[in-house]
Amino acid sequence: MENSDFDLDIDLTEEMLAARTSCRRFAREVMRPVGQQLDRLTAEQVIAADSPLWTVLKRYTELGFGGGADIGAADLSPAQSALLHAIVVEELAWGDSGIFITCGLNNIMPQIARGFGRPDLAEFFAQRDEIACLAVTEPGHGSDHIAFTEPGYRDPRIKPALKVRRQGDDFLLNGQKAAWVSCGTIAGSCILFGSFEDSPIGLADGAAFLIPLDLPGITRGKPLEKLGQRTLNQGEIFFSDVRVPRRFLLAEGAETYPLIWEAMIRDANLHMGPQFVGVARAAYDCALDYAKQWVQGGVPIIQHQAVKVRLFDMFRKVEAARSHARRVAVANAVKPGGVPFQHAVSVKVLCTQTAFEVASDALQLFGGNGLTKEYPIEKLFRDARASLIEDGENGMLGIMAASRL
Ligand SMILES: Cc1cc2nc3c(=O)[nH]c(=O)nc-3n(C[C@H](O)[C@H](O)[C@H](O)COP(=O)(O)OP(=O)(O)OC[C@H]3O[C@@H](n4cnc5c(N)ncnc54)[C@H](O)[C@@H]3O)c2cc1C
Repeated sequence: MENSDFDLDIDLTEEMLAARTSCRRFAREVMRPVGQQLDRLTAEQVIAADSPLWTVLKRYTELGFGGGADIGAADLSPAQSALLHAIVVEELAWGDSGIFITCGLNNIMPQIARGFGRPDLAEFFAQRDEIACLAVTEPGHGSDHIAFTEPGYRDPRIKPALKVRRQGDDFLLNGQKAAWVSCGTIAGSCILFGSFEDSPIGLADGAAFLIPLDLPGITRGKPLEKLGQRTLNQGEIFFSDVRVPRRFLLAEGAETYPLIWEAMIRDANLHMGPQFVGVARAAYDCALDYAKQWVQGGVPIIQHQAVKVRLFDMFRKVEAARSHARRVAVANAVKPGGVPFQHAVSVKVLCTQTAFEVASDALQLFGGNGLTKEYPIEKLFRDARASLIEDGENGMLGIMAASRL
């Protein structure tokens, strides 16, 4: 039995265990090695036509995943589906978090459209086989855009870099989204949040759309070079007199726009949980293997008490993060209206912080080897580091969650 085969959830069905096994194999045999290869390339090379990224994406879809890593199991209850989803996401992100996010964004628009009660848009995007992105952050507006639901951010001095204007029945967009948009240079469609240019309440008055990115006037920037999750493409989207027909609108106005954003960031935070449990477990698994093999003082280092204690600390952190992520995911699936915002944030912050701490401890355990590219741990450390800022900087998310206590 592998160390990570033991699962505290007592109601895993045969299908769930089989899905876990196939995801684990795919993560180990395909995602992990390709992730290590892509990590050493430039951001341009990662998305080049001959990049192995596309082979992984093709094989991922052949495994039967729908948008957002949904694996078909129609006979499961909502609670079981949520549990299976958390298991699948953890396994795949164990392989490579950046590749997993890219694959998870593939064909996700129909699911998003259905979630917002828009079967017409679900049908529209189902005909387009493409990666999507969530475009929120703007140059000069990271936390401003995450936190515009907070009263302190309703400030007319905060001016959007992407300006939305109503024009007849449609909308006119001018400006840009920041280079931080995941899959920004490769996505074919976009969940777009933009604020009205003349709003007296900062960014809180705006419009959310689901749009195809081949509308006239849309261009892209260069892919961004960054420290961690280098396998995940990041890049700007520019808008020049882009006319967006009303049929692509999800919500508009100071009443509903913040509500839609809060639902979006809440769900994104929930999804980050199992992903970074996967990264934490990957770091722990590496450290455990290494400690069993690396000899100092004439014995494998795992035989030294201080190393045992460090490994146990890592183990309990991974278990605690997984338990919390799954419990909140299941509650979210069965409770009417889902879980409160602060619970979703608690999942994101706990799991990403765990991934960072466990990866950091794992790197320490590798000694100098941990700093080299000969071993996988420095990449996991960098990937985990990025997660503390992704989908809202953890401190900022904490401030927002705290205002709801
Ligand atoms: C890997 C990755 C993927 C991402 N993917 C996407 C994506 O798909 N789409 C997208 O739109 N964006 C994405 N982002 C952007 C991300 O959401 C922002 O980076 C994040 O919201 C922080 O914004 P910022 O980087 O501009 O930092 P800033 O907002 O400039 O924050 C700088 C510092 O100031 C602090 N700060 C700011 N305001 C306050 C306050 N009121 N009180 C106390 N402290 C404060 C912050 O906590 C932070 O420490 C991604 C980021 C990363 C790293």
